[in-house]
Amino acid sequence: MLEIENKDRFGKVIADALAKIELTVTDAQNKKRWINAIAKAVVEIEQNGVFMTWQEEDHSLLIWSQKSNNIYTANGVCGCRAFEQGSPCFHRAAARLIRIYMEPETVAAPVKEVNEIPNLKNTKEPVRVEKYGSVRLPVYN
Ligand SMILES: [Zn+2]
Repeated sequence: MLEIENKDRFGKVIADALAKIELTVTDAQNKKRWINAIAKAVVEIEQNGVFMTWQEEDHSLLIWSQKSNNIYTANGVCGCRAFEQGSPCFHRAAARLIRIYMEPETVAAPVKEVNEIPNLKNTKEPVRVEKYGSVRLPVYN
């Protein structure tokens, strides 16, 4: 079971991942596929995180697909059809997002506003503010 507790932090991870695709993927078609994979990964993590498990030992993400009833693991490689065909898949995108989200050393990175990602927009007031190093982050219920 995977739960994103710090949505601001996760939002920054997503924004960085999208920026990196923009900078590093030159093929327009491939770029579009990766952006779609990231977008799907975000939705899946938010809606079906209960069917995902982050494995700290090998930095892989286990994803149980209710649609196919298969379990996929992704940490750069994946066992799904899209990966076999050399296409970006949301499993790999999700594994990368979660890996970066889990990395402790990036906790102190400055958090910028991520209001452009509608699914992650917080409409509630934070219950408290926690301090991570020099950065203060709002905590939501
Ligand atoms: Zn996959």
